[in-house]
Amino acid sequence: MASNLRTNNFLRHVESMKLLPSGAGHISHLNAVILGESLATEEDDFVLPSEDFASQANVQSPEQYLKMYNRSIEDPAGFWSEIASEFYWKQRWGDKVCDENFDVRKGNIKIEWFKGGITNICYNCLDRNVEAGLGDKVAIYWEGNEPGLDGTLTYTELLQQVCQLANYLKDIGVKKGDAVIIYLPMLMELPIAMLACARIGAVHSVVFAGFSAEALSQRIIDCKPKVVITCNAVKRGPKPIYLKDIVDAAINDSAQNGVSIDKCLVYENPLAMKRVDTKWKEGRDIWWQDVIPQYPTTCPLEWVDAEDPLFLLYTSGSTGKPKGVLHTTGGYMVYTATTFKYAFDYKPSDIYWCTADCGWITGHSYVTYGPMLNGASVIVYEGAPNYPDAGRCWDIVDKYKVTIFYTAPTLVRSLMRDGDAFVTRYSRKSLRVLGSVGEPINPSAWRWFYNVVGDSRCPISDTWWQTETGGFMITPLPGAWPQKPGSATFPFFGVQPVILDEKGVEIEGECNGYLCVKKSWPGAFRTLYGDHERYETTYFKPFAGYYFSGDGCSRDKDGYHWLIGRVDDVINVSGHRIGTAEVESALVSHPQCAEAAVVGVEHEVKGQGIYAFVTVVDGVPYSEELRKDLVLIVRKQIGAFAAPDKIHWAPGLPKTRSGKIMRRILRKIASRQLDELGDTSTLADPNVVNQLIELADS
Ligand code: ATP
Ligand code: MG
Repeated sequence: MASNLRTNNFLRHVESMKLLPSGAGHISHLNAVILGESLATEEDDFVLPSEDFASQANVQSPEQYLKMYNRSIEDPAGFWSEIASEFYWKQRWGDKVCDENFDVRKGNIKIEWFKGGITNICYNCLDRNVEAGLGDKVAIYWEGNEPGLDGTLTYTELLQQVCQLANYLKDIGVKKGDAVIIYLPMLMELPIAMLACARIGAVHSVVFAGFSAEALSQRIIDCKPKVVITCNAVKRGPKPIYLKDIVDAAINDSAQNGVSIDKCLVYENPLAMKRVDTKWKEGRDIWWQDVIPQYPTTCPLEWVDAEDPLFLLYTSGSTGKPKGVLHTTGGYMVYTATTFKYAFDYKPSDIYWCTADCGWITGHSYVTYGPMLNGASVIVYEGAPNYPDAGRCWDIVDKYKVTIFYTAPTLVRSLMRDGDAFVTRYSRKSLRVLGSVGEPINPSAWRWFYNVVGDSRCPISDTWWQTETGGFMITPLPGAWPQKPGSATFPFFGVQPVILDEKGVEIEGECNGYLCVKKSWPGAFRTLYGDHERYETTYFKPFAGYYFSGDGCSRDKDGYHWLIGRVDDVINVSGHRIGTAEVESALVSHPQCAEAAVVGVEHEVKGQGIYAFVTVVDGVPYSEELRKDLVLIVRKQIGAFAAPDKIHWAPGLPKTRSGKIMRRILRKIASRQLDELGDTSTLADPNVVNQLIELADS
């Protein structure tokens, strides 16, 4: 009874969401579970925060959210400058908090936040926290690839190490505005290097240490760094990877293209490779351990303008050649700190673990800057999430008493396939908030994450955002929101998402179309490095007056947002527009389907047909019966029009190194245009493609 009352109360709140500019309204379903009370099932539309959770949350109700959200839209300058004032500014920004031109018809796109404000993000992450008494708090818990190997750094120790590296970089001539490439695995030295660059105003460009020499060299040629920071080798799972050899090859290649590198700082990682075995170029290569500890542990700051560049980062390359996204200092700082605090309901006692690598935007905003700006204790894990077995994540959760766990749907699906026993043999009692990013999370994976990993106790923040957006754009606020499995819910403060139709007209109410954003937000990227024209063409010209995300989105009758995949991937079957995510979610809800990727292929009658690549759960044989079952489950859940025309068995799917499915390549395989596979350099495992081609007609 009590829970019914509570359900109704909450749903009334959701009803009040009508106030949202997106025109949400009308709750017609009353199927709901309350956090911690029972399992979420297919029938539940809502998962409600428990009273206990909501009463301790940073935002406790939809009304409180609405009040803050409306203020952030009506008075963005007031809203954001109040938050910005919590940070240290050597000099306050000028009279304009935000100065933007968001409309290509009125001239070049320009976004500026807190212009004239002088600050330093490293100061705000480290010195400020130490001065506030957090010096002895652990900033980083480092967990090595091999169980048992670990280390910690307090905020004071982290500051000292950052200063030593910063002094060295200054010594070799790195100045404000110079680029530095960081090609390191998840050692503590990776965030240390990022923060050291920020301290002296250098622009870091982290390149994921799984990229090939060719990909690294392209990035070196593009940003012409003063120095490359790397390590000799790393073990990922049982296998050593010789990073220094890759760097050598990349530097050689870039030299042939006119960009020479004079200094390469190499961290010695003795567990993966001995110093004597490392190939060396005297004069250019320097061992980190030989020089850095000799430098002073304090280093004066380079104060920078809020609009000075902080970093350059290439997108994951799911849709083609990566884009060099440039972020500046002030707005990014304020935005990552705020999104982190609210979307994860952060409290000073939390132990936070994000499984992303610092080579991706998630590792920038939500391993390094966002958490450290909040003075959080962060886990940095070097290894693979399934090494030595599929229980490793929960082993780490128990070891450090992790309270907030943030990961990607690809990992959730893979752990789900490995079975519940790997999860349930660990306690996981410390967990209180879960998070997901990178792709739409299928409702069945959401429920598994919620029911099994979180013991039905932990809200899930399904955060939609992009390298370009710097921070979360559409995300649940745990405690405030009733959740719907698979929906990213509502916009973050200051964000005005709109759904446009083909003609660029905003659609109200229940709808489906192009996800765009009206007006800038502090964390927005300012340009594509060296190519402002491509920036405008890609993001601002498709729909003049809006930022175009490239993603498709639908809004349901209650105003909840559902990401349905890239708009280029939307399939048009006999006039029905079908998002890839919908069909994939239906397929993976079959207990024998581990993963699915859907693309459109030409079809004589229907215009486009649906072609589904399906990975089955380990040990399940391919059979005609399963094929029929899979088609049936889509017919049942979505409708006959969405039934796949072809099921293609896939032992693995082509993914980017950040774990996203590359549908671009699957489209070529589906249409048998095998000589047009395009750029495959960002693929994690190119062999997958050959396997798929072999299985094409089986
Ligand atoms: P590229 O732009 O080079 O093709 P990418 O878009 O994969 O690569 P990222 O910036 O890492 O590079 O990823 C952002 C994209 O990831 C979003 O545009 C969206 O398609 C997807 N995404 C991220 N989070 C979510 C989420 N919570 N739900 C649905 N999709 C998401
Ligand atoms: Mg993208």
